[in-house]
Amino acid sequence: MTALNASVLLIYTGGTIGMIENAETGALESFNFEQLQKHIPELQRFDFTIDSLQFDPPMDSSDMEPGTWRKLVRIIADNYNLYHGFVILHGTDTMAYTASALSFMLEGLNKPVILTGSQLPIGVLRTDGKENLITSIEIAAAVDTNGDALVPEVCIFFENHLMRGNRTTKLNAENFNAFRSFNYPALAEVGIHIKYNPSVTRAADNSRVLKPHYLLDTNIAVLKLFPGIHENVVAAMLTIEGLRAVVLETYGSGNAPRKNWFIRLLREASERGIVIVNITQCKAGMVEMERYETGYQLLQAGVVSGYDSTTESAVTKLMFLLGHGYDCEEIRRRMSHPMAGEITAPE
Ligand code: ASP
Repeated sequence: MTALNASVLLIYTGGTIGMIENAETGALESFNFEQLQKHIPELQRFDFTIDSLQFDPPMDSSDMEPGTWRKLVRIIADNYNLYHGFVILHGTDTMAYTASALSFMLEGLNKPVILTGSQLPIGVLRTDGKENLITSIEIAAAVDTNGDALVPEVCIFFENHLMRGNRTTKLNAENFNAFRSFNYPALAEVGIHIKYNPSVTRAADNSRVLKPHYLLDTNIAVLKLFPGIHENVVAAMLTIEGLRAVVLETYGSGNAPRKNWFIRLLREASERGIVIVNITQCKAGMVEMERYETGYQLLQAGVVSGYDSTTESAVTKLMFLLGHGYDCEEIRRRMSHPMAGEITAPE
């Protein structure tokens, strides 16, 4: 690849968006880039270069692993100076995990990395993929009058909303509005115009140097509370061999049962160096452990607040911090501070 003027690298990993119905058999098959261009002739109307790379074979996003995130980081790092922006076509199921992970792994990012996909394959008449893809490319190439990227962040674009990737969660398996960012405003709303919202978007800064990270540790569990959860279930999870961190999904503003056995198990796990991060099962809102007695006890057991983090962001941030060898106290401290705009921590 050679250096160029305005340009976007399209990375196709797989997922519904890349499927095309075989006219003869009716079966859904993965496309290659030439087929895509046939289905979206509008792509030729962009007055800049769009290059593409595809995963071979394409992946259903349910099969995504940290190794795939590393592969994406490597592709972006290797091509960073050649393109104005990057669009990643990705299955919707784990897109929010990939977006969150990339936001931490691409330290110093100063260019757009836009993930998108669709609920209906690109080859289907009513597809939402066409619109999602065309707008994502436009956003990935968008610059201000100084030539600086308008959205130099990892984002998800879906159904007219550009969202910060590590704030986004999949909420609908069927409708076109598959994703929402409940705790952070959209970075852009798309109608007749693309209305960017610079006040909530990270500003471009040409002094930032991309520092790709590849180290992740997956010794993490997610423990979702429900009324009636058994002591032996919690005990078994917290004593998993090699376990280093737990995302504890609590109720409301970070509340959990006050039972003695529960608090004791959490305290013992914290004392063994397991990092326990409290996030709420609610889609919107923030953990405030000081608010009720039921949350306060968690604080005393060594549990740290995940504030308004999504599960996807808490899991991938823990993988990142554990992978980088910080000790448990340092990880607890860093979970309370935003690394890539993923939480709204109190000042
Ligand atoms: N199972 C698909 C995937 O996540 C669904 C989709 O693309 O929407 O890869």
